[in-house]
Amino acid sequence: MTVLEVRNLQKSFGTIRAVQDISFSVNTGEVFTIIGPNGAGKTTTLEMIEGLVSPDDGEIHFGDLSWSKNAVAIKKKIGVQPQSSAMFDLLTPEENLNLFASFYDHARPTDDILEIINLTDHRKNQVKKLSGGQRQRLAIGLALISDPEIIFLDEPTTGLDPQARRNIWDIILHLKQLGKTTILTTHYMEEAEKLSDRVCIVDQGNIITLDSPSALIEKLTNEREIRLSFLDGENAAEEADHFSRNLESVARTEREGTSLKVWAVKPEDTLLDLFKFNKEKAYQVEQVSIREMSLEDVFIAFTGKEWRD
Ligand code: ATP
Repeated sequence: MTVLEVRNLQKSFGTIRAVQDISFSVNTGEVFTIIGPNGAGKTTTLEMIEGLVSPDDGEIHFGDLSWSKNAVAIKKKIGVQPQSSAMFDLLTPEENLNLFASFYDHARPTDDILEIINLTDHRKNQVKKLSGGQRQRLAIGLALISDPEIIFLDEPTTGLDPQARRNIWDIILHLKQLGKTTILTTHYMEEAEKLSDRVCIVDQGNIITLDSPSALIEKLTNEREIRLSFLDGENAAEEADHFSRNLESVARTEREGTSLKVWAVKPEDTLLDLFKFNKEKAYQVEQVSIREMSLEDVFIAFTGKEWRD
């Protein structure tokens, strides 16, 4: 079921066309991710949907509800992760959650939220003493106070170390298990790939492409990149290169010194042939790997630009 539909959203700031023409719909229970480089228009898109910024043009519907007619009902449905500056540094996570809960008639119990955001052990520590990751988890907790159906998280892992990022991923996956819909922005491709049911890649205020991570990657190519490096010097790599190029399953190859890259449609078949060849020649291979295509490759293919985190 569609919980949110966005049609032809547009927003300019002076001469900057932050959002040019963005349309998508989000289904109940999915993690929907808007990903794009800095300045792509992710935050502006999210803030229009959250009712914080008014669009120049376009429509936003939460089922039958729209901001112009049903603002109160929409506010009950959604939870927005606040900036960490909205928290009270001298209070504890428990006190912050209780304070925010006092604004609602039906708040989710604080104990429950502390459990979800994995801060039960830190419930009595002052917020100013928490790590960056713990503060971000508390910010997510504040978005959960009203027990919303749809949760908006704007770059919740930016600037966090890998472990702290994974802790946030666990929370997002837990929310999915609870049946919540999450709309996420990020500029980390790996994060989008791991968490999302569907990904919307934006660049310069427009959607480049939108689908599940696996479908986006499959659409891109059915080739896989095999990497080999030879212990027996450049000649071995050169001969293996020549041998590979004549295999039916191989689309192209690239050799540099003792390393060889082979793009193959059926990498298992190609590897088998290559192993047989190496065995006959008694060549020793130091490393073999198959590189899966990633969302980063999708971005590069669509925009012709390198991806920068
Ligand atoms: P980031 O990953 O850096 O947060 P983003 O994809 O979220 O980027 P936005 O913050 O939506 O991008 O910004 C899109 C463009 O609009 C940028 O060029 C930005 O400088 C501009 N912009 C956003 N908000 C404003 C504003 N209030 N006034 C002027 N320009 C703005």
